[in-house]
Amino acid sequence: MCIHSSSNMEPSVTTPVYQNFINGHFLANKSGKTFDVTNPATGEVIYAVEIADEFIQNAAIASAKQGFAQWSAMSPIERSRILLKAVAILRERNDELALVEVLDTGKPMQEANCVDIETGADVIEFFAGLAPAQVGQQQMVGSDFYYTRKEPLGICAGIGAWNYPLQIACWKSGPALAAGNAFIFKPSEETPLGAIKLAEIFVEAGVPAGVFNVVQGAGDVGQWLTQHTDIDKVSFTGEVGTGKKVVASAAGSLKDVTMELGGKSPLIVFDDANIEQAVSAAMLGNFYTQGEVCTNCTRIYVHKNVYQQFIDELKTRTEQNIIAGDPQDLNTNFGALISKKHQDLVMSYVNKGIAEGATLLTGGTTLSPASAPNGYFVAPTVFIDCNDDMSIVKEEIFGPVMSVLVFDDEDDVIKRANGTHLGLAAGVFTSDIKRAHRVIHQLQAGICWINAYGNSPAEMPVGGYKQSGIGRENGIETLYTYTQTKSVYVGMTDIESPF
Ligand code: NAD
Repeated sequence: MCIHSSSNMEPSVTTPVYQNFINGHFLANKSGKTFDVTNPATGEVIYAVEIADEFIQNAAIASAKQGFAQWSAMSPIERSRILLKAVAILRERNDELALVEVLDTGKPMQEANCVDIETGADVIEFFAGLAPAQVGQQQMVGSDFYYTRKEPLGICAGIGAWNYPLQIACWKSGPALAAGNAFIFKPSEETPLGAIKLAEIFVEAGVPAGVFNVVQGAGDVGQWLTQHTDIDKVSFTGEVGTGKKVVASAAGSLKDVTMELGGKSPLIVFDDANIEQAVSAAMLGNFYTQGEVCTNCTRIYVHKNVYQQFIDELKTRTEQNIIAGDPQDLNTNFGALISKKHQDLVMSYVNKGIAEGATLLTGGTTLSPASAPNGYFVAPTVFIDCNDDMSIVKEEIFGPVMSVLVFDDEDDVIKRANGTHLGLAAGVFTSDIKRAHRVIHQLQAGICWINAYGNSPAEMPVGGYKQSGIGRENGIETLYTYTQTKSVYVGMTDIESPF
């Protein structure tokens, strides 16, 4: 990092400027171009970041190549030990790193200091533990035999979204590094600092220079990564539309891809459910991280027999228990949206909901809390009288906007829940164990919860059905998506040749 006057600010104001992180250290670009990063809770520019120009891009590839040579030659147990040191540092610095995330994203500190860093560290720890357990197979074929080796892919790239910046960087780099790959990560241009902190921590832990590099910039830098012929895989988190561009671009060099995309997930509440618990799940799945969570259950289908009870409790708790304000205040449990542009987009959906005939149960406005008057807040919003054709019910909003729908029949609600091109997550609340599994098995979604919502432990694979994604993150299976299998045939007898 260096400190200088940012070009687009008053000359007297100095803003930190972060460089790209290449080959174990910060590296200045040649173009001198930067972009500004704003704290969404104050609307103020907090630092600037240098854009990865051609010089940086070439340096990142050269760095990752030599990092890969060194890292892949180490034994898995050596890699595991080093990664576990990084895990320990992440946990030691939890509060400092949580503050980075709070300032970049606008989310409440009471979430970031117990979820964001911890869930990132958990995933690196999980894959570090698995690294030495990667085994091949061997089999006799007649008197010859073959064996297989799990080899790393080479250089992998990660492209992140802005809602869980450091966690996303950990979820992508954890399995990649454990399998012996080098990595080039591009965080979202809205939240670029967490990945830099992770890069510094990897170096401090003993990960060789060049193994984890961070390049900064917007979509054009992301696109460069997806089309580069020296990059073997790209793991992307972001919108469905961007994901399609990434897959198309990666196809040019036949890269492997993992796609973690958007959702419009249903939560089905049956009339035998614990309603208090179901309301808790609905609120967590719509208002946690002010609604900016990909798996959010933004379509809540409630059985007609418990509908009134459900919405009464939902309205009371939403109006009484949510505290919007300065995200650094530990009492705040509802933060600011990522940007003014996103606040406007979320409000445009609120207005569409009203125009298309839904009724506001609560919320529906922007907020200007006394402790953060310039932040980009939208009130926790619940629509009732919704139908499946409304824009607010069909499209991902990625903000605190919940739609409640009524149902009567189990088969019908399953059909309605599946009536979308997305399939990231789904949930069911019922006290009937047979119904719980019967229904969940018919829902077209990759991440499902029964009498729970949102938990995503490192051990559990996560990813989308339909247009919500390709491949999985976390869980044992993900490690193997960062490896390729080499089969080695061993001849034990003389070759019989007709030539
Ligand atoms: P986005 O698609 O706008 O951007 C994501 C990343 O892609 C950013 O780093 C951006 O710079 C980069 N990018 C943009 N254009 C690109 C291109 N042509 N080629 C390569 N990279 C490009 O998404 P966002 O607004 O940052 O994030 C919100 C979205 O992410 C939501 O749709 C949300 O559901 C999704 N999301 C999904 C998951 C999941 O695990 N499934 C997790 C978090 C967020």
